[in-house]
Amino acid sequence: MLAKWFSWGLVAFAPSALALTGPQTVFDALSAILLPSSEVVLVSDDTYQKDFTPRYNLAEAPAYIVGVRPAVAEDVVKVVTYARDSNISILTTGRGHGYTTSLARVQGAINMDLGKFNSIHVDAEAKTMTVGGAVNGYQVTAALQEAGFEIVSTATPQCPCIGFAGASLGGGIGPYSGLYGPISDSLLSVDIVTADGRLLTVSETESPDLFDGIKGAGFNFGVVTSLTFQAYPATNSGHAMNVDITFLSSQNESVWKAVEQLAASQPKELAFGLSVMHSPDPSMEGLLISANFIYAGPRSEGEALLKPFLDLRPQNVNISTVAWKDIPDVANGGAIAKYGCTPGKYYIPYSLNLYQVDVPNLVDVVNYMSQAMGADPVLQGTSIVWQQYAQHGFQLRADDTSTFPYRDAKAFVQIDSLAADASQAPALDKFGREVRDLLQRGSGKDQLDVYVHFAHGDEGPASWYTAERLPKLVSLKEKYDPTGMFSWYNPVILANPSYQNL
Ligand SMILES: Cc1cc2nc3c(=O)[nH]c(=O)nc-3n(C[C@H](O)[C@H](O)[C@H](O)COP(=O)(O)OP(=O)(O)OC[C@H]3O[C@@H](n4cnc5c(N)ncnc54)[C@H](O)[C@@H]3O)c2cc1C
Repeated sequence: MLAKWFSWGLVAFAPSALALTGPQTVFDALSAILLPSSEVVLVSDDTYQKDFTPRYNLAEAPAYIVGVRPAVAEDVVKVVTYARDSNISILTTGRGHGYTTSLARVQGAINMDLGKFNSIHVDAEAKTMTVGGAVNGYQVTAALQEAGFEIVSTATPQCPCIGFAGASLGGGIGPYSGLYGPISDSLLSVDIVTADGRLLTVSETESPDLFDGIKGAGFNFGVVTSLTFQAYPATNSGHAMNVDITFLSSQNESVWKAVEQLAASQPKELAFGLSVMHSPDPSMEGLLISANFIYAGPRSEGEALLKPFLDLRPQNVNISTVAWKDIPDVANGGAIAKYGCTPGKYYIPYSLNLYQVDVPNLVDVVNYMSQAMGADPVLQGTSIVWQQYAQHGFQLRADDTSTFPYRDAKAFVQIDSLAADASQAPALDKFGREVRDLLQRGSGKDQLDVYVHFAHGDEGPASWYTAERLPKLVSLKEKYDPTGMFSWYNPVILANPSYQNL
């Protein structure tokens, strides 16, 4: 099935319009129709490297001929219309952190960089925030904290540099998801340019079918220039307790038992992340287990909740109380912010959702990793990253209120591999798939479910959106994107078959 999906993809998208329309022609045409404040650059020009948002992941990268940075939504309309009428592929860039291998199918395309859509407006009276299509988590948390508000933000603590719009369009999960669910649940409206060149405002009352699809599969339907969210009064006076703890790999089983215990009654204010990774320190026995807890409440309460972990006599414990917006600087010693904000990684991602904490299976997986990494040092670039949020926020909305499908997941797990260079990729790719398969055995479901933004790209639409949701999403695609212009990033369907004849 997957092989069919992919070969169809290659057939459907291989013929780029590059053969028909050269870069200079595209550059000239766009320069002639856009405002002087919008930027059009040939990718071969040095200015492209300087002005355009770099990609986080070097692996499986899309290939462009011309970059455009529109200054206003009307110019986005013109670029989309031109690309459609000229049969030229187009891909939107927010903050450049999208890494799915499905983007490698983009060849000879226009890169629509939304970097100029970077405004934020917080309306304290209405308790809303309106942002441009390319703001990042740092910008959002800084603006909201200053106004006394908060929201689910991927900035706390994962990566403050990822696109806030980009994340929202696939759901968007982060520690305060325990309080408010995925970011997409807080969306009130979006402005989107669709394939037919219309700039639509979409909400629960305007094109509600499209609004439903945007909340979980938004990159399938157009270019989002502006998003308005509900903002929430800050919890715990805008402060949280951050706890970093390190365990030895020999404590593997005890740590998973504590994770299982926590999952059974995780309070909404507590988020938990865990990384299993290689340690060059001989005293750490090869692998180390690093845990991070964020508690949006008083320190005394947080420490009581973490007693099962603290009682395990960890190697290191670091507890601090910080302003919400500063969490990325302290969580995991600030490592994720630093690592996630440095583009140009050779990153090989795999992922899956887990619906239970299967302790024996997790122990086996960690032991297998330890043994494999000992035998082949290249594999030491792989880590398991576990995110566990309280169910409360996800259950605030019914399953049919949006396209985000995984409200019942216990943990969102990533198998992150970083290659030193492309020569290491095949071994890391094979290992990543093996670890995913081993984890899947204890997932609690027969089928592979993957949060769309953490997907490798080989899983297919039923894994990203669920088989139940696909018929509705396919109908939406037929209505709003019948030629598959926006079918690059883990798409619902690949393209209208007419593309195969180009
Ligand atoms: C280090 C790292 C940490 C991460 N941590 C988290 C996390 O904690 N929680 C989480 O939920 N996700 C996380 N992600 C995944 C992240 O949500 C996605 O990669 C998301 O696509 C990033 O958006 P972007 O704008 O930065 O990426 P881009 O590469 O610019 O965009 C990704 C895709 O989204 C589409 N897109 C982006 N913006 C728009 C727009 N305005 N209109 C239409 N389409 C658009 C485009 O099709 C594009 O191909 C992480 C990713 C990385 C690399």
